[in-house]
Amino acid sequence: MVITSYTKDELIDLFVNRGFERYRADQILKWIYKKGITDFETMTDLPKDFRKYLRENFKINALNFIKRVPSSDSEKFLFKTEDGYIVETVLIKERDHFTLCVSSQIGCAIGCTFCATAIDGLKRNLRTEEIIDQLLQVQKISGVKVRNVVFMGMGEPLANYENVRKAVEILTMPWGFDLSKRRVTISTSGIIHQLRRMAYDPVMSEVNLAVSINAPSQGKRETLMPICKTNKLSQLMNLLKEYPLKPYRRITLEYVLIKGINDSPEDALELVRLIGRHKKRFKVNIIPYNPYPTLPYRRPEPENIINLQRILWENGISCFIRFSKGQKVFGACGQLRAEYEGVKV
Ligand code: SAH
Ligand code: SF4
Repeated sequence: MVITSYTKDELIDLFVNRGFERYRADQILKWIYKKGITDFETMTDLPKDFRKYLRENFKINALNFIKRVPSSDSEKFLFKTEDGYIVETVLIKERDHFTLCVSSQIGCAIGCTFCATAIDGLKRNLRTEEIIDQLLQVQKISGVKVRNVVFMGMGEPLANYENVRKAVEILTMPWGFDLSKRRVTISTSGIIHQLRRMAYDPVMSEVNLAVSINAPSQGKRETLMPICKTNKLSQLMNLLKEYPLKPYRRITLEYVLIKGINDSPEDALELVRLIGRHKKRFKVNIIPYNPYPTLPYRRPEPENIINLQRILWENGISCFIRFSKGQKVFGACGQLRAEYEGVKV
């Protein structure tokens, strides 16, 4: 059993059933999440018999670290699961903090036509401990403290709801990594029934929500994102306009900008109409497309990118251009599958 798959209450149950004190759970959680210790023998304040029980029954790491691939602004970490799949995690250096982009699945079943992760379909969901271990190991290996976690690596987090939910609990609880909920972001392709569930889930409702909108009309969105055939854009937008938000919090609409596909001024105006009178509820992040060798899409010229941003601002919508980091190591949004294809990293 991997110890990072349990919440505090679950650990207390396990330990008490074996005749150990409740507070042993606090001690061990502190060693793992606060001090980053991943070896039971180093946990010097635990009695010998308890350490023996831990050693015989639990592991701390769920993934095997393979290698790190640094570039100037980010670093990709590759791990292998017990059953041989590669998990990719990207550590991003921001101006004054570090953000970790974690994966929630091996591959993805959603099938967006522009995204490299979609190419092989879904292999399987990651378990809670495999999500948590990405952060635990990256912090240990790199020696940095991560401040923000974004679920923007491989996979669709809301298609792996239970495991992601428990991971969010461990990320944000005081006994876990104790990250602020506003520093954890779930990015989703917009699975409506799961968004409804998230809205009223005490663990999930206060984390940042980013929705990959990517196109301003049903027709265009359907061709880029097949999920839109069943999760209609109008229904998605209606839900987002009513989604419960704390004061001053906004929903991010991510918009991957692809040359000749969704980058015309008309597209921008249509997005303005889609947002309608809810301008203060949303902000738009434009992500200039990161090309992938076997996919036919390209990135627009810089003038077009800036022009789109200008149109949104002129219409009262906050809009930021997010040049994804890590492109040189194929670690940027939508490029996370390099290793399968033998692309040199
Ligand atoms: N499945 C989730 C989270 C992972 S994808 C989602 O779709 O939101 C994270 C972001 O990367 C999404 O906004 C997605 O639209 C974007 N993306 C995918 N492929 C991309 C590419 N090649 N270039 C730039 N952004 C891309
Ligand atoms: Fe999956 Fe997100 Fe890629 Fe779409 S963009 S295929 S939902 S990972």
